[in-house]
Amino acid sequence: MPELPEVEVTRRGLLPHVVGRRIVHVTVRHRGLRWPVEPELEAHLTGRVIGRIERRGKYLLLECLPAPAGEKSPAPGDDAPGWLLVHLGMTGTLRVYPDAPPAGAHDHLDIALAPPDAPGAPQDHAAMVLRFRDPRRFGAIIWTPLAEAALSEHPLLRRLGIEPFDPRFDGAWFHRLTRGRSVAIKQALLAGEIVVGVGNIYCSESLFRAGIRPTTPAGRISLARYDKLAAAVRETLTEAIARGGSTLRDFVGSDGSSGYFQLDCLVYDRAGEPCRVCGTPIRQIVQGQRSTFYCPHCQH
Ligand SMILES: [Zn+2]
Repeated sequence: MPELPEVEVTRRGLLPHVVGRRIVHVTVRHRGLRWPVEPELEAHLTGRVIGRIERRGKYLLLECLPAPAGEKSPAPGDDAPGWLLVHLGMTGTLRVYPDAPPAGAHDHLDIALAPPDAPGAPQDHAAMVLRFRDPRRFGAIIWTPLAEAALSEHPLLRRLGIEPFDPRFDGAWFHRLTRGRSVAIKQALLAGEIVVGVGNIYCSESLFRAGIRPTTPAGRISLARYDKLAAAVRETLTEAIARGGSTLRDFVGSDGSSGYFQLDCLVYDRAGEPCRVCGTPIRQIVQGQRSTFYCPHCQH
């Protein structure tokens, strides 16, 4: 499943190829994603120019600027910036193809992009396709006309916790939001309400690095230990993003392989294997129907 690092790497991979390009054509082949793709999507998008690409949690946010002056706006009233929200769900990918192969059964959306308007643009910057592929169709493609200032209030975004790379996210943040809470720290972390993007793998890995037992009630962890955990979350995600960075070239002209990257995990999926620090066999437990891995010696 794509987690925050994969989504961030997708964002970085798309940036140089997509930003500044005009949408010349939109093809929706299957509207039955997690939520139905709206019938007007093609009309809303065609003619617009892709501005920035941001990320919030596991949502990619593509800014879609109004059609350039002098060109007819395809849908009356579509003369303000809007955003395309993309969630990769369980199996989604968003890739650019300079020369798109014929669409397969799981290629649900193609956005054809014109070459950049800049004079002297290289020849290989000809029409290009941004393709959303999602075999299991838990992903989402959502158009919203909200301006940037209001975007954080979108129903899908407004309840998300803070970003792990936001400077406000630190041990004190964790500590403040967990006082009086008896929920296990693993589950508090995974819920995404304190901080977004710490998926199941990254929960186990971050808690190991911080030396915290995943079953510890969140409200009983000290500020000093939360400082360690905040740092561990950032380290774990930073390493995963760096690892994914080496796959950036796969975002162009890919054969459609998943492209998700595997961490060299310290504890995750290593039940019974020796802890890399102390040699104690790694233990596996189930919390909230998800597997958790930890070292009973290093984490307490
Ligand atoms: Zn250990």
